[in-house]
Amino acid sequence: MSTLVMKFGGTSVANLDRIKRAAKRVGLEVANGHNVIVIVSAMSGKTNELVGWVNETSPLFDAREYDAVVSSGENVTAGLMAMTLQEMDVPARSWQGWQVPVITTSSHANARIEDIPVENITAKFDEGMRVAVVAGFQGISSEGRITTLGRGGSDTTAVAFAAAFDAVRCDIYTDVDGVYTTDPRISSKARKLDRIAFEEMLELASLGAKVLQTRSVELAMRYKVKLRVLSSFEEPSDVAGTLVCDEEEIMESNVVSGVAYSRDEAKMTLLQVADRPGIAAAIFGPLSDAGVNVDMIVQNISEEGRTDMTFSCPTDQVLRASKAMEDAKTSGEINFADLVADTEVAKVSVVGIGMRSHAGVAAQMFKALRDENINIKVITTSEIKISVLIDRKYMELAVQALHDSFGLEKAG
Ligand code: ADP
Ligand code: ASP
Ligand code: MG
Repeated sequence: MSTLVMKFGGTSVANLDRIKRAAKRVGLEVANGHNVIVIVSAMSGKTNELVGWVNETSPLFDAREYDAVVSSGENVTAGLMAMTLQEMDVPARSWQGWQVPVITTSSHANARIEDIPVENITAKFDEGMRVAVVAGFQGISSEGRITTLGRGGSDTTAVAFAAAFDAVRCDIYTDVDGVYTTDPRISSKARKLDRIAFEEMLELASLGAKVLQTRSVELAMRYKVKLRVLSSFEEPSDVAGTLVCDEEEIMESNVVSGVAYSRDEAKMTLLQVADRPGIAAAIFGPLSDAGVNVDMIVQNISEEGRTDMTFSCPTDQVLRASKAMEDAKTSGEINFADLVADTEVAKVSVVGIGMRSHAGVAAQMFKALRDENINIKVITTSEIKISVLIDRKYMELAVQALHDSFGLEKAG
């Protein structure tokens, strides 16, 4: 029998009525003849509440205990979804990550899935169970501790299950009806894409488009999972949603295919560090050891053997980053005059495979921002994306201006 993976995000399981609605959709797929693996998120807002409690209890928390707390939201929805299905006479049961088991690395709060043995669930399917409801976002490390996969990680759970069970498709049900040229909540001109290339989706996700977690796209690309994003609020239809697929399967071709933003960025500057061989390693080594995800890096021109080093990281890691730098200073690994944190910045990026063969995208981006009088603080580029750090208060304006400038409301 074929296996289908259906993932329901937080808003799709936000209350008992929504869970019922989602369960009905699962029931339809069971009636279509699939065995279904349902991956559920926590009810919307729940994970944020749990993270809030952790931060209030212990600002530099033990990440193992963070995972023990924040993984719990998914346990509730998994049980409720299984019960709802049983009420509909669909044979179902719930599985927490450790029961499957979803084996992950020990990198707490940001673990990677290493293996999903299929035997336990397959045995139940063989006995007549039709739906395995699995708590997303969580797993177990080789030390036997509960882990979580980073925010938005249920998407990755879903794709990993689709790969492990060789599923016919992985359907990600969310609160928008597909992937758009930009976040439809920021720009009313955002256009739904019928298809998007894996590589573009990967960039958009990693640059902040949280509709899919980055690692879920990576896995789908690697294991050739047929990945679809669709709304759990609309009536079922065959043409619904966005298919994430290979570049070759796409006809339309805008040079820029999307605009992404990341609101919670911070810009940290170490003033007057010694400009000597090994200084970057001495700074970024301790940051990495402290679990800080450094994104952009700029080293200024040095004057009299001293330079300023700027990097960006998520706002919620500023405390960790500052502590790592102060500790490195105390131990004599680095020396700096001051550490300045600007926590009011945002990153805005344009993404498109077409950039590989088109010059002038950067110039057009900078011009669009100049026309809105938006100052650029840091710039980074890669083959298919350009990102800028700007004042957060201009973020929405920048997204809209870039969406207009690159004509994204119309298909290319
Ligand atoms: P879920 O709880 O279902 O996982 P998320 O909130 O994680 O849902 O992701 C869906 C949200 O992603 C949408 O509500 C939308 O605001 C946001 N989003 C950001 N960029 C995009 C985009 N390019 N296309 C669609 N949605 C986007
Ligand atoms: N509940 C987790 C979060 O909010 C995981 C997820 O929904 O994907 O990040
Ligand atoms: Mg999500």
